[in-house]
Amino acid sequence: MSEVSENLKEVEKRIRAACERSGRDRSEVSLIAVSKTKPIEMIREAMGEGISVFGENKVQELVAKHDELEGNNLEWHMIGHLQRNKVNKLPGRVKMIHSVDSLRLAEEIEHQFGKADIVADILVEVNMAGEESKFGLAPQDVEPFLLKIANFNHICPRGLMTIAPFVEDPEENRKIFADLRKLLIDIQDKNYDNIDMTELSMGMTGDYEVAIEEGATFVRVGTGIFGSRNYEKG
Ligand SMILES: *Cc1c(COP(=O)(O)O)cnc(C)c1O
Repeated sequence: MSEVSENLKEVEKRIRAACERSGRDRSEVSLIAVSKTKPIEMIREAMGEGISVFGENKVQELVAKHDELEGNNLEWHMIGHLQRNKVNKLPGRVKMIHSVDSLRLAEEIEHQFGKADIVADILVEVNMAGEESKFGLAPQDVEPFLLKIANFNHICPRGLMTIAPFVEDPEENRKIFADLRKLLIDIQDKNYDNIDMTELSMGMTGDYEVAIEEGATFVRVGTGIFGSRNYEKG
């Protein structure tokens, strides 16, 4: 068995165990295989194991892989920081944008997806730990932001996303995941027009099991499936 196949079996086992521990159904959690920096052959291996949902953090790489693998019924998720001048590449290629973090970016998505007559499913990225190195809105800015974009015709906010700090012990991120869920529920409870959000994109290789226990509906796993990334070789 290839490394990717073996890794996927292990990840699947852990996702199921985390679902069981928290009384959730496996179908409530979507696994996004984060294939950034990894070659098409590895994506094909994952496809051979039944994986059809992939995540990339750079538009150029997402476009190249999407176009090469078109016709295979794959879903591509844009999970990395998105520059406004690249949004025009995304209509028709992405299932969801996880990293919306400014009004100017939302306006550009509205404009470009409007031209293509497509509604963009988006998540609002939240910087829960207030890390200076991270993108994302501060938690208290999320609700006012959503109210500003609620009437955009080509954006549908589906939930929240966070990138938790890098920690040795995933338990250290439990509160961050629980707080993101609480933020989603608090907004949902206000029943605003045109805001109906149910998705929580949280948890990576180091902490996806804790994230599932705290309500994740998308986990984004790269290293745990494809092995470590070598950025020097690209
Ligand atoms: C790279 C990346 C991941 C996957 O990280 P791993 O630790 O390799 O699982 C998840 N989310 C985002 C936004 C990423 O950029």
